[in-house]
Amino acid sequence: MINASLKELAAALAAKQLSSVELATLFLERIARLNPALNAFITVDTEKTLTMARAADARLARGEGGPLTGIPIAHKDIFCAEGWLTTCGSKMLSNFISPYDATVIERFKAAGTVTLGKTNMDEFAMGSSNETSFYGPVKNPWDGAAVSGGSSGGSAAAVSARLTSAATGTDTGGSIRQPAALCGLTGLKPTYGVVSRYGMIAFASSLDQAGPMAKSAEDCALMLNAMAGFDARDSTSLERPAEDYARDLDKPLAGLKIGLPQEFFAEGLSADVAQAVEAAIAAYRTLGATTVDISLPNMKLSVPAYYVIAPAEASSNLSRFDGVRYGWRAPHYGDLADMYCKSRAQGFGAEVKRRILIGTYVLSHGYYDAYYLQAQRIRRLIARDFVEAFKSCDLIMGPTSPSVAFDLGDKAGDPVQMYLSDIYTIAVNLAGLPGMSIPCGFGLQGRPVGLQIIGDYFGEARMLNAAHRYQLASDWHRRAPAQ
Ligand code: GLN
Repeated sequence: MINASLKELAAALAAKQLSSVELATLFLERIARLNPALNAFITVDTEKTLTMARAADARLARGEGGPLTGIPIAHKDIFCAEGWLTTCGSKMLSNFISPYDATVIERFKAAGTVTLGKTNMDEFAMGSSNETSFYGPVKNPWDGAAVSGGSSGGSAAAVSARLTSAATGTDTGGSIRQPAALCGLTGLKPTYGVVSRYGMIAFASSLDQAGPMAKSAEDCALMLNAMAGFDARDSTSLERPAEDYARDLDKPLAGLKIGLPQEFFAEGLSADVAQAVEAAIAAYRTLGATTVDISLPNMKLSVPAYYVIAPAEASSNLSRFDGVRYGWRAPHYGDLADMYCKSRAQGFGAEVKRRILIGTYVLSHGYYDAYYLQAQRIRRLIARDFVEAFKSCDLIMGPTSPSVAFDLGDKAGDPVQMYLSDIYTIAVNLAGLPGMSIPCGFGLQGRPVGLQIIGDYFGEARMLNAAHRYQLASDWHRRAPAQ
């Protein structure tokens, strides 16, 4: 059951082969056994989980179940969930019990899924290795010496180690795709505005987007069906008719045009990753697709532009954490200003402070034009590169990450090296496009490699179709780490 697809789990539940309580118990037992070494979960609450599972069983017994009813999933600890500790990986929120549900949580509740717990993450989603978490790093289930990727590293490790059937993640610059690649999973970042950000703790609001992390494209499609949709409580949520993201999964790929950006296969890409990605692209040709060389000339500017825009927005978003209404408050302080200073100094970790300082600097008088405005112009050029590229192809493919998972501690002391691990993913967020990562082999030390698939705006169904057809013809996505 731990390797079963969401469809298989739903069928087993509908056929009464097992109950939701039994399924949840199976995963809870694995979490109890394996999580102490992996550190994928920040919070587990057996009673809450079993209460949800009992409710799902009752709903199934009434014949009112949907495609996900009774299925246990895990949520990144960035989503506010009523009654659950919601920390965002930070000491700042280490005492915060959310009084309400994020829209994503609300939708999964309505679908009847069962929450197994809240997963570990980089502090306020800032990081690419899960090492900035106040709760400690997450280990990669494929190799305990390796990082799980970040910032949704807990979700990635939890799915990969089969501690949950699927999980939610968020992606501001690559945080779904990169950990999915490093842990051998399928993960999807939707078009900006497709999934509501209400109740999802804000990092960089113009880039943040939630999406599914699962074992296959088919599972991601079912998860996205539950997550997506207009929400009046998020002003950037798009008002569009509901879609069935699984509708095109089986379509043949004959005639599909895949764009290969030369910038994705240039200097900086490890040979082992290049080899696996090229083999996957060859497999697509066998499936009937054709490839065309394209160029994204401004892609090299995406990391510098992102590290102006994202910290600028973060410095503003994180100003709400002042120790007054909720969150960490310093135990000893003098006046009000001292309370703010001490609470923030103690509550935030080093990476978050670095971003707040950079963001405050680039937004300050005299520097705004030189940095922030300039970065916004570059952002526009990057988006235009993609518009040009999609004139000659349907999907873009390349590596998700320049290397397989690196060792814990390897980049922790060098922020620029860490920032460069998102070199292939960040441009997609800047343009607001959908992107996904699927497993396509193994590289050095037997660590997983991810193939990135980038779609045009609202191209989720087409990306999922391409991913699914590849997964019908390969078995990388079925491989699971030992245990
Ligand atoms: N690694 C990038 C950062 O540190 C992206 C993180 C994310 O997508 N949340 O900002």
